[in-house]
Amino acid sequence: MQQSPAAAGFSIADMPSPPAAVARVVRMASDPDVTAEELGAVVGSDPAFTAELLRTVNSAFYGLKQPITSAPRAVTVLGNRALRNLAICFAVRDSLRTSGFRAVDLEKFWEDAMRRGISARVIARETGAAQADDAFTVSLLQDFGMLAFLRANREEFQHYDRWRTMSPEARRHEEKQRFGLSHDELAEVLGAKWGLPASITDALAKHHECTPTGGARGAAALGRLAHVADLSCWLLAARTQAGVDALHAAMKAEFGVEPEATDKMMEPVASEIEGAAAALGMRVSRQPSFGDIMAEANRALAQMNLSYEDLTARLERALAEREQLTQRLQEANAALERLAYFDPLTGLCNRRRYDALFRDLLLRAALERRTVSLVMVDLDKFKSVNDTYGHAVGDAVLRMTATALVGACHDADIKARLGGEELAVVLPDTDAHAAFAAAESFREAIAAGSVSTPQGFLRVTASFGVATFVGGGTRVEVERLVQVLSDVADKALYESKHAGRNRVTVGGVVR
Ligand code: GH3
Ligand code: MG
Ligand code: MG
Repeated sequence: MQQSPAAAGFSIADMPSPPAAVARVVRMASDPDVTAEELGAVVGSDPAFTAELLRTVNSAFYGLKQPITSAPRAVTVLGNRALRNLAICFAVRDSLRTSGFRAVDLEKFWEDAMRRGISARVIARETGAAQADDAFTVSLLQDFGMLAFLRANREEFQHYDRWRTMSPEARRHEEKQRFGLSHDELAEVLGAKWGLPASITDALAKHHECTPTGGARGAAALGRLAHVADLSCWLLAARTQAGVDALHAAMKAEFGVEPEATDKMMEPVASEIEGAAAALGMRVSRQPSFGDIMAEANRALAQMNLSYEDLTARLERALAEREQLTQRLQEANAALERLAYFDPLTGLCNRRRYDALFRDLLLRAALERRTVSLVMVDLDKFKSVNDTYGHAVGDAVLRMTATALVGACHDADIKARLGGEELAVVLPDTDAHAAFAAAESFREAIAAGSVSTPQGFLRVTASFGVATFVGGGTRVEVERLVQVLSDVADKALYESKHAGRNRVTVGGVVR
């Protein structure tokens, strides 16, 4: 949601401003015409500033062999530029102290400012890209504009952990969305209020001026240092692999530093933050070493990969289970189909299926003037097989009979068990003559088959009755046709039994 600065309750007056004495020192120190003596005299006339300055330059952080005891001497030793930077540091610190924010909230903001400042100073020192003190000042101040937003929206400080773990670009984007303005766009105001030299104000304004590759190449070295230091600060707060990658990429793009060299270069950052904060009399929490941060980011990444692998494995298991289920379902459907259509003992069509197929075939034959033959099959003296060998052998005989029939049939024939030991074969496009030959081959196949029993091999025979339909007549009452044809075949079968069994009788042709 786009908000105007006014709507966000934000005003330029919310920008922190430095004490007047400090602002004067900063302005003078930035003026090349002002000598160290003149500057020393101005600083010396401010007892509070002098005390602060001497305490700081004599702290362990500066590591001077001889203690410095006067303001002019301090100015001479440090040089105008370093003095100016120290003055800015004091001012930043003091403006935070008098900002009205809670100390615990400010600690994090100060920690981030120091992380940026020290990161930039270390990189400037190691790469020679810019004056280390200037790099520190620019980066210390680079997010100062954000204080103005936070002052106008105090409850936002409760979410500061969220702000600081956002990538620099994401954070800037949200500032623009929420406050209508981003911190770099306040550089001019900040520069004027603080009397900053143009080179520093310019760097503050341009440290987000990104090229398509995400770098800050539009800016001079100070701006690019601020950009890289911002990424370093993000990494220190967020501790993610994305942060590591961003810092590595920026260091390579902006300063040609390889990832390994970057990691090594950043090692002193932690102890220098602690040292600089102590020198300025500010507290920061114990800083993690860069190596620890990298390791933590790596662990987080590994954890993420692990859970990704876990997820993948679970997905694969679910898919496999689904496949198994689908297969089981298909098998169950196939089993149901077999039950519905086929006789479980012989695997031949059951009565229901036979009725439907036979009826359809007769109807088609009637309409298309084709010929169909029906062969009824009945085992001879089957009752005595059961009586002599038992029901199990009887079943085996039925199975053997079915196998023999199927082996002697064409694929297109309908092979069915109509019940008990009564079987039927329907032969499409087969006239009476051919049907007789087919039935003879069935008879021979059954007679040739045998079933093993404890008493030796058992052979059986069957009797056959044939009926034939020739389509093209006037009748297409198919139910009646089925009945007539079955009767003719049954009658022929009965004749075969009567004539001594193990034979084929052709009943007649129905038209
Ligand atoms: P025929 O030569 O006159 O046909 O004499 P048959 O003994 O074969 O005829 P009948 O109809 O008297 O006997 C048929 C027997 O088939 C009776 C029954 O025990 C047997 N049977 C029917 N269904 C099955 C079955 O599923 N398994 C077994 N083992 N026997 C069956
Ligand atoms: Mg019978
Ligand atoms: Mg029989």
